[in-house]
Amino acid sequence: MLIDTHAHVTAREFDADRDAVIGRAREAGVEIVINPATTLKDSRRAIELAERHPGVYACVGIHPHEAAGGTDEALGEIERMSAHPRVVGIGEIGLDHHYDFAPRDVQERVFRAQIQIACRRDLPIVVHTRESMDDALRVVTEETGLHAGWRSHSAYPQSRYPGPRGVFHCFAGTVDEAWTLVRLGFAISFPGILTFKNAGDAKLVAAGISLEHIMLETDSPYMTPVPHRGTRNEPSRLPLVAAALAQLQGLSIDDVARSTSYTAHRVFGVGAPPQPRITYRLRESLYVNLTTRCNADCVFCDRKGEAIIKGHNLKIDREPTAAEVIAEIGDPNAYREIVFCGYGEPTIRLEVMKEVARWVKGQGGRTRLNTDGHGNIINRRNIVPEMVGVIDAISVSLNSPDPVQYGALMRLDHTVYFPAMIEFAREAVRHIKSVSMTVVDIDGIDCERAKELVEKDIGAVFVQRPLF
Ligand code: SF4
Ligand SMILES: [Zn+2]
Repeated sequence: MLIDTHAHVTAREFDADRDAVIGRAREAGVEIVINPATTLKDSRRAIELAERHPGVYACVGIHPHEAAGGTDEALGEIERMSAHPRVVGIGEIGLDHHYDFAPRDVQERVFRAQIQIACRRDLPIVVHTRESMDDALRVVTEETGLHAGWRSHSAYPQSRYPGPRGVFHCFAGTVDEAWTLVRLGFAISFPGILTFKNAGDAKLVAAGISLEHIMLETDSPYMTPVPHRGTRNEPSRLPLVAAALAQLQGLSIDDVARSTSYTAHRVFGVGAPPQPRITYRLRESLYVNLTTRCNADCVFCDRKGEAIIKGHNLKIDREPTAAEVIAEIGDPNAYREIVFCGYGEPTIRLEVMKEVARWVKGQGGRTRLNTDGHGNIINRRNIVPEMVGVIDAISVSLNSPDPVQYGALMRLDHTVYFPAMIEFAREAVRHIKSVSMTVVDIDGIDCERAKELVEKDIGAVFVQRPLF
């Protein structure tokens, strides 16, 4: 299922065949379309359309091009309309310094007023910028900063991700600007520009930002993707955008569909949240989620928050038996590898893990353990030799080469756990063919030193991955 988070189906380009366009979207797997508005009149049309089609939702708002129409009366009307049950956001609103169809001070006043409406009505905002990123960032920071509920109002207050309260659509900024927005509580969305040869920074950003913060849009009737350039765009072309994003992220189209739909659910409340999983697929690998228990409490971990990875919900309320896991795996040869991983430490369930792994090996499959490296303390013995022949590869979270920082990040006694983790890694290198150690990209972590420790001292493969 795909969600087109930004399509102007109310545009007059669709006057002749609007219902057919929505039907074609559905046939193409685009089950939900969000229709942002540009004017007061268009806001009314968006609501009417959403009333007629169960898969269509409306946003109400005044586009920066139309900001001259943003009188107090019109803004009052937008606020009244926003109470309609089919309205899921305020938009599209923002600043356009490329065309400057309305004077900049007027654009800013109308933008601010509509953010305030969104804050009062607890709705997300859909932001348009063009050559105005700095000013837009300043305005949203100021306006949302005045509302304490902007970030904490998330349905998932414990999440490591701030609750997204809006989207910068057709994002055309830099990777740095995108991360700034993510930290402020925004998602970003991309249209068919990802299929263009000359896409500016868009491809860099789409590849460099974690998928969790990205949504898909067509921006119909504009931004027609390759190979349909030069024709009217419509929501049924969204799979082309999904495919381009999948390629940039090195993920499958399924991964992109699931994750972007979930992000759209978090932002707009449309669609349904995913059910908890004991196994989950990413790329060509199948991951096994044995537990949500962990001996650590990492500051960057979302175990106690939503525990969602790329649209997979890992928040199981009961730990699965080996038989249940084996039944769900089915044929392990259908995957590149079976990975014991999740929001929890797999060696807490060592016996179940070994039983499943032994079965996978018996079927001719490959296995990997992702661990914090504390399995020997957890199980009060050296468990590494027990994994010979059942676990093909081990990945240990190094987190930091500095013991004090390590303890602070994992909220553990570093004098006990840091040396234990290092010893576990050394022991793994002695017994297991493929051993890697990972650090997450957090400010202040000495990645050079980590690399040296892992490669020269321990003899494992060094892996660095982004925090969010
Ligand atoms: S070790 Fe892993 S599962 Fe445990 S708290 Fe840290 S990141 Fe989360
Ligand atoms: Zn738009």
